Amino acid sequence: MKTLGHWIGGKSAESVSGSFGPVYNPATGAQPTRVSLASVEEVDAAVAAAKEAYPEWSRSSLARRTAFLFKYRELLDARRDDVAALITAEHGKVHSDALGEVARGMEIVELACGIPEKLKGELSTQVSTRVDVSSIRQAVGVVAGITPFNFPAMVPMWMFPLAIACGNTFVLKPSEKDPSAAYLLAEIASEAGLPDGVLNVVNGDKVAVDRLLTHPDVAAVSFVGSTPIARHIQAEATANGKRVQALGGAKNHMMVLPDADLDHAADNAINAAYGSAGERCMAVSVVVAVGDTGDALVGKIAERAARLRIGPGDDPASEMGPLITREHRDKVASYVSGAAAQGAEVVVDGTGFTVEGSSEYKDGFFTGVSLLDKVEPGMDAYDDEIFGPVLCVVRAETYDEAITLINGSKWGNGAAVFTRDGGAARRFQLEVEAGMVGVNVPIPVPVGYHSFGGWKQSLFGDLHIYGNDGVQFYTRGKVITTRWPDPADTAGINLGFPSNN
Ligand code: NAD
Repeated sequence: MKTLGHWIGGKSAESVSGSFGPVYNPATGAQPTRVSLASVEEVDAAVAAAKEAYPEWSRSSLARRTAFLFKYRELLDARRDDVAALITAEHGKVHSDALGEVARGMEIVELACGIPEKLKGELSTQVSTRVDVSSIRQAVGVVAGITPFNFPAMVPMWMFPLAIACGNTFVLKPSEKDPSAAYLLAEIASEAGLPDGVLNVVNGDKVAVDRLLTHPDVAAVSFVGSTPIARHIQAEATANGKRVQALGGAKNHMMVLPDADLDHAADNAINAAYGSAGERCMAVSVVVAVGDTGDALVGKIAERAARLRIGPGDDPASEMGPLITREHRDKVASYVSGAAAQGAEVVVDGTGFTVEGSSEYKDGFFTGVSLLDKVEPGMDAYDDEIFGPVLCVVRAETYDEAITLINGSKWGNGAAVFTRDGGAARRFQLEVEAGMVGVNVPIPVPVGYHSFGGWKQSLFGDLHIYGNDGVQFYTRGKVITTRWPDPADTAGINLGFPSNN
């Protein structure tokens, strides 16, 4: 069995704690790897390496930082397949989806390559006689990133490239369920010439996370994961004087209006609900069928669901892979049986699915896709984030009923409307309480130069991640007021409040 350690100070670090967690291959159920779970001392070593690297890195020129980022982008481009293969091996998603994840992560590296443009600052001349004022932004220090299992490469790349570009040093704590991709990202960063200690990876669980939240030398924490943990992260880290952005869970709704192209809507619902086995924070998990669209839409989704090819992620024929763990698979199944007991109609029941034709996958964490109709608030399948390939359909008579339902959700990550009516789409985008809105786009994940973030219990903190918000988060402002007195000027004594003239 392979053992994965930490990446500290530009080199691998063996486990000191002697504590390990299992890393499965979800397609076979085997456990080919164990990951080191850091002790407080190991986290401290990673933070110390980042702290030591900080003075030189934060003072390094923009030219030097961007030279690294361009090189990093080049090496990542050449290693896309390797990163994607690790994602598929430990997460289970199909290789094409893993490649898509790497590409979306690389968008943030590309954004970071343009950091000089973002850090230009502002200058006002002659605000008062012979007085100029400039605003600059500087790094905050050591930043910690804590990331979820569902995007083991992309979400870390939402964070560290931009943080590093801004002059910070970084300690990443990836998900212990699929940690190898993040480790490879750090190794490649060293190959690209990143000085030792600028990017560190410490593997672990709650022990490691909680140490990062209280460590006096950590200045900022970026977190992406489930809502209960996001809430904990924000409370703990802010209580310890850190700036925090903590992105949480989601239950994303897709409203389908009566004038929508139902075939287009059904295709999009399928892709957004079942892609990556529903383990996406921007997955559509609820379709709100408005007016008389329900029966036809459910029929079209069911017909498409039956054709999906489910199998191991490294088989090019597979469109959907397994779930992350056996426990998660069983929990997802319990929502399907629970929904039936609570009065929903189970149109497609994917539980109990097995991959045909090979005994190799008999212990894999597979499930088929499920479609639940006539779901209502109050049912567990509606109220909880299932995070699996289970799509709920809720019926609504009118647009007003549908928007009230969506806005009643405790989450507000993404929301989409499908319609041909520009006026209705415009109303939706202004009225919906969500951070990311799609108009005939089911998974409106913003491009790298916009920012990603939800509302309500999908985000704890003020700033979204990456884009301009990311630059704000990873820098702090400084305003400099300068006077170069003319030799003829006499300041004189004046205890009054400075005024401009
Ligand atoms: P998770 O919250 O269980 O874990 C996220 C991270 O927190 C991991 O690194 C984990 O080690 C750590 N962690 C777990 N329990 C902890 C505890 N008790 N104390 C301290 N740290 C702890 O999330 P997950 O299951 O890995 O990922 C799936 C969740 O992430 C879903 O809820 C999904 O919606 C969410 N997610 C949100 C976004 C977003 O952008 N809003 C993106 C991706 C995933």
